[in-house]
Amino acid sequence: MTSAHICDAVLPELGADTDREYRLGIMGGTFDPIHYGHLVTAEQAREALDLDLVLFMPAGVPAFKQDQQVTSAEDRYAMTVLATAANAAFDASRFEIDRPGVTYTVDTLTALRERYPDNVKLFFITGADAILDIVTWHNAGRIAELATLIAATRPGYHIDQVRDRIEASGFNFDVRYIEIPALAISSTNIRRRVAKGKSVRYLTSESVIGYIRKHGLYNSSVVERTDVL
Ligand code: ATP
Ligand code: MG
Repeated sequence: MTSAHICDAVLPELGADTDREYRLGIMGGTFDPIHYGHLVTAEQAREALDLDLVLFMPAGVPAFKQDQQVTSAEDRYAMTVLATAANAAFDASRFEIDRPGVTYTVDTLTALRERYPDNVKLFFITGADAILDIVTWHNAGRIAELATLIAATRPGYHIDQVRDRIEASGFNFDVRYIEIPALAISSTNIRRRVAKGKSVRYLTSESVIGYIRKHGLYNSSVVERTDVL
């Protein structure tokens, strides 16, 4: 099966009315697990940039987390579905987890660009930490051509530093900066709390917490993965 077929099978229909522009947000992440920081970022990006849909895209093998132990893609995808199910403007995609090998954002954006007609504009949503990495990503210049970037504030990161790095990169990124309610929540912190038997209520949805408990995720062997925030 070619990647184009996978793409056709799992991506939502968009762009049928050729008289209007569609704005598709892509929220990439490991989502190990998905939490309210991700959800509020996507929702506020949707509102600020008038997006028609935000596609949550759990990474298969994340390019920058290859040396770390990550929960199975199926579990991360299932939690993403649970957390996004009640929002009509959110959708979860299997696109990256069904692709073999390492996930590169540029490949995903290229496939989306090929899949959708020109009246569908692509917006790649990130937090301030992730956008700092973008300049070092595989084919960063191509990413700049394919999508508008939405950079959301995140506690512990300075948006001015992000601006400087983007400018210094020499690539022609179109970046929209949005200020969102500060939630100092991270998946790393949730994994650690679960492993220690501490409460994670109100850090992510009840449905995700139920899934974590039911499947016994984040026992101590997995949590020693360290990440900033
Ligand atoms: P980990 O601790 O495992 O790295 P994480 O909480 O950083 O997990 P990721 O899946 O790495 O979550 O992040 C996916 C995207 O969501 C990134 O663009 C990241 O910047 C953004 N993001 C995650 N948490 C927040 C938050 N609390 N506020 C704003 N953006 C966030
Ligand atoms: Mg992270």
